[in-house]
Amino acid sequence: MNSRVKRLAVAALATATATLGITVANPAPASAAMTICYNTSQAPSYASVANQAASIWNNATTNLTLTANCGTNLRIYQITGGGSYAQRTSLGNGRVYIDTQQAAQYSPLRIMTHEIGHILGLPDNYNGNCAILMSGGSAGTSCTNPYPSTTEANRVSSLFAGTLSANDRRSGTGSQVFKDSWPGLLTVG
Ligand SMILES: [Zn+2]
Repeated sequence: MNSRVKRLAVAALATATATLGITVANPAPASAAMTICYNTSQAPSYASVANQAASIWNNATTNLTLTANCGTNLRIYQITGGGSYAQRTSLGNGRVYIDTQQAAQYSPLRIMTHEIGHILGLPDNYNGNCAILMSGGSAGTSCTNPYPSTTEANRVSSLFAGTLSANDRRSGTGSQVFKDSWPGLLTVG
């Protein structure tokens, strides 16, 4: 929602509230930008990568702001083996796990922005297209693009604005684990 529409929506709600003579305890939640506090204390090797990923998402979207270490909406962990993945508990909340072995093969920043993309409501989209952030590892290790496409970024903005249909919104906001976005290349044996 752009700021002009947002102002109009807030003004309309205020007018309606005044007309009805009621008090709204938490007015217009859909038009209030969400601050997503991310915590990197468990991912010291990737704190700066997380900060870069946050800037990318903040620049590409509206209605949300990722902010470092102001709380724990999003906890970021580094792990060794098992694969990078994301565990969304609700829109803007959850955990991201960065596998150090995968981050030595694929771009750590692309992994980070992709996994955060799941927390922000995006599903995987394994189409091999490097221009699509949610194509993840299907685009190969040579793909280092860390930026969401316009379509991906707009979907996140719409989710946080609450302007999608109920079905679309439900699929992007529920509790879900997103694994296996980054195929392992090492031969074990
Ligand atoms: Zn994924």
